Amino acid sequence: MISNPLEVFVDADVLAAPFTRTLLLMSAFEAGSGFRPRWSALVEDQANSHVRGSQRRIGDIRRQFEWMDEVLVSDSDDSGDLPGDTDPGDRHVLRAARTAEIGVVVTRNVHHFGEADLQAPSMSAVNPDQFLAWIVTRGQYRSTLEYMAAARSRPPNTVEGLHAAVAGGHPRLFEAMRTAFPGVEPVRSGDRPAKEVFRGSRCIVCGRELDADGVGRGGVGMDHLRVP
Ligand SMILES: [Zn+2]
Repeated sequence: MISNPLEVFVDADVLAAPFTRTLLLMSAFEAGSGFRPRWSALVEDQANSHVRGSQRRIGDIRRQFEWMDEVLVSDSDDSGDLPGDTDPGDRHVLRAARTAEIGVVVTRNVHHFGEADLQAPSMSAVNPDQFLAWIVTRGQYRSTLEYMAAARSRPPNTVEGLHAAVAGGHPRLFEAMRTAFPGVEPVRSGDRPAKEVFRGSRCIVCGRELDADGVGRGGVGMDHLRVP
C-alpha cells in the first residue's frame, strides 16, 4: 500500500464539491506532486448524481486530462472480511480502495469509516482539508491557485482572493500556506468544521504505518513536519 507518489482513493463527496475537487485535482497535476487521485466507476456515478444544471460531469473532467487515464480503479463486489462498522453507504469505497491496494481514502465523512474496518487492512480515512494541508508544497499550492484564478471569470479570481476563500472550507490548508501569503485575511464561511479529520493507521503523506504520535497528529508521520 506504499507508492510514490502516494495513490489515494477519492470519495464521491469530495468529487461532488467543485471547489475542493478542483484544488485536489489541480494539485495532483502539479510537477512533483506527492499524490495520485484514484476512484471507481461507482464513486463517479455517486458524485455525478449531485451534479446540477450546467455543471460538468466527473467523467468529462477525467477525460479532459490525459494523465487521468489511470484514475479509475475497479469496484469490488467482494463483501470480504470487513468487521462492518463503516456506514453501509461507504463500504464500497473501502472495498474498492483495498482491492486496488490503496491505503488512504480522502473523504469529507471520516466519521463514516469504522475504526475496526480501517484497522483490519491498515488503512486511513482523511478529510481533504487535512490531506491537502500536508501533501501540497507551498509552491504547488501557489501554482494551483494561479491556474484556478486564470480559469475563473468571476471573483475570487486572483491568487490572494482564492487563498482567502480557501479558508472557508479548508482552514487547515489556509493556515499551512499562510506564510506564503502575508497579509491575506481568511474569508470565513458558514460551513461547520468537520467532526473528525483523520482515522486509521497509515501516514497521509507517504502511506507508511504510523506510530501513536503520527496518529495523534492527524495522520502525519514525523518525517513530514514542516519548518514554520
Ligand atoms: Zn509518512
